[in-house]
Amino acid sequence: MFNKILIANRGEIAVRVIKTCRRLGIATVVVYSDADADSLAVEMADEAVHIGASPAAQSYLVADKIIEACKRTVAQAVHPGFGFLSEKAEFAQRCADEGIVFIGPNPGAISAMGDKIESKKFAAAAGVSCVPGHIGEIADTAEALTVSETIGYPVMIKASAGGGGKGIRVAWSRQDVEEGFPAVRAEAAGAFGDDRIFIEKFIESPRHIEIQVLGDKHGNVVHLFERECSIQRRNQKVIEEAPSPLLDPQTRAAMGAQAVALAKAVNYDSAGTVEFVAGQDKSFYFLEMNTRLQVEHPVTELITGLDLVEQMIRSAYGEPLAFGQDDLAINGWAIESRIYAEDPYRKFLPSIGRLVRYAPPAEGEKGAYTVRNDAGVREGDEISMFYDPMISKLCTWAPTRIEAVQGMARALEDFHIEGPGHNVPFLAAVMDQDRFVAGALATSYIKDEFPDGFSGTEPTAFQADLLTAVGCAMQRIQAQRLGRARADWTVVVGHGKQRVHLSGEGQSLTVDLLDEGRSLSLTDIAWRPGLPTFRGVLGGTAFTAEVAPAPEGFVIRHRAAKARVLVLTARSAELHDKLPAKAPADTSKLVLSPMPGLVVSMDVAVGQQVREGEVVCVLEAMKMQNILRAERDAVVKTVNARPGDPVAADQVLVEFQ
Ligand code: ADP
Ligand code: ADP
Ligand code: MG
Repeated sequence: MFNKILIANRGEIAVRVIKTCRRLGIATVVVYSDADADSLAVEMADEAVHIGASPAAQSYLVADKIIEACKRTVAQAVHPGFGFLSEKAEFAQRCADEGIVFIGPNPGAISAMGDKIESKKFAAAAGVSCVPGHIGEIADTAEALTVSETIGYPVMIKASAGGGGKGIRVAWSRQDVEEGFPAVRAEAAGAFGDDRIFIEKFIESPRHIEIQVLGDKHGNVVHLFERECSIQRRNQKVIEEAPSPLLDPQTRAAMGAQAVALAKAVNYDSAGTVEFVAGQDKSFYFLEMNTRLQVEHPVTELITGLDLVEQMIRSAYGEPLAFGQDDLAINGWAIESRIYAEDPYRKFLPSIGRLVRYAPPAEGEKGAYTVRNDAGVREGDEISMFYDPMISKLCTWAPTRIEAVQGMARALEDFHIEGPGHNVPFLAAVMDQDRFVAGALATSYIKDEFPDGFSGTEPTAFQADLLTAVGCAMQRIQAQRLGRARADWTVVVGHGKQRVHLSGEGQSLTVDLLDEGRSLSLTDIAWRPGLPTFRGVLGGTAFTAEVAPAPEGFVIRHRAAKARVLVLTARSAELHDKLPAKAPADTSKLVLSPMPGLVVSMDVAVGQQVREGEVVCVLEAMKMQNILRAERDAVVKTVNARPGDPVAADQVLVEFQ
């Protein structure tokens, strides 16, 4: 076996590869940029080599620097992780030329599958069912229109070199193609340095189902079943699971056989993924093949018991697969939630900054389910603007899907993050939706279920009780410390108000709801003033809530339900009623920076009349350009930032009259 491997990546996946190498007794080297000098991966690896400045183009994407680091540390092989150089055939070839083993497929397989147009030609030849469309490069808008009309609307305009949800656009009409074709082409040229575009049928409301394949250098290929990744936002995966609730054994076998046939057709010799879109009727069509380890590989590991990184290392070393298709079976159900540094309450805008608190749920068996959390960060680390905004990948496994879903909902309760905005409340909302529980998935799920974005959910009956009980318990614990414990209070939750009587001692509290004539029993209370999480058992159900002090009371969040809870004396409750409701500050005349970033362009000047929807300025943050538009017709009063200026979150960029 290899005795030293270099990892040409960062963050979560670098840590993931190190863990397997350690288990196999292989020494590790990581490369790192300026921004990652103090990262967890650098701390864990046996050796670390600095390769340049923070932007990936000056560090993780520079093949020369990676090769040089291998030579310097005498590493025999390179694991590329995902993203960066992982799907660059030239890099795999360069490694081979330098006598370094690339832990991934051979360069021929990467180039055959690395391009969506070329891979569709291969797939069609291998008998794989493809999305109806035009398998070939489209020259100009006129041809795009002819092709679209032949296929029939809606169609999808795609960059052949696209990836990560970029370079994709749906067109429903002639006009959409006229606008979309040049736009996708420009985006592709900018993002991938390759402006070849093709067009295929847009399958409406499909599901994304992909097959994991694994090959060796001796011509063997097996598939490790499917993953369903239909919960997506802007064509990027957010929640994945294995197996898929849609498939039956026949469809699974048919998709698996096609994926293996395609892999064999290109002499595939590592881990890879064949992606399909599937209709609700279980029809399925090939999308593309990803010639690398996939972000969501943990769910496959959880249902097969295999370590995919280990399998990649073994096949790269030349070992034949130690099992055949018949040795493989699906065991239980696994779900992955991608925890992103983005603010769901603010249209999912990227949110970067220091992880002031980072407390994931403990990994391991939790009774009915098992928790796994793949992360590359520690408390105190910075989510920087240079790379992907993923904080971690939280997975749960259980014998059945419903237990895995409930386990995920519970594990998300126990995930506490402070600092950057994060999508944990949003993920919790999805886990609690009947449609998700029923497995009625589609790539349009988030758009269907959250048409106006996300603003939290209304408390369920259980959550309303929880908010009341937790507020009372916190108030009682604080009052007891001051020696002023009293029994009778008025609790205000949102717009509701009720009188309560508290009793109990130690870790238990009984809350008599005097107006309703029933009682709540809160036991196993684990909280003290200053703690951001409150654990307890309410009426037999264990929970964790996130709590923070607020004027006159607390803000309490359980899953996606969040409310201000006030526990007042009868007298203050009366006064509270008389207080005029405080109007929120009027920000309608301001254009605020939604996140820290860099001003790319300022598109308005003082005195200018702007129309609703017009571009006011463009901000760059987290590798993305964010266009800020006027929310109404207005005249510009002041302009407070210029191109090149760094700006903070909520900074006023433009003021209207
Ligand atoms: P996967 O296909 O492995 O499930 P994604 O589709 O989310 O994962 O991402 C595909 C690849 O593109 C990953 O290797 C990821 O690191 C990278 N990637 C994700 N988002 C972006 C982005 N905005 N720009 C460039 N690369 C990205
Ligand atoms: P990427 O390289 O960015 O992963 P893909 O071609 O795999 O691009 O597509 C990403 C996502 O876009 C898919 O998971 C699916 O949700 C959607 N998509 C792609 N092609 C189609 C299509 N023809 N019809 C409907 N949805 C599609
Ligand atoms: Mg894809």
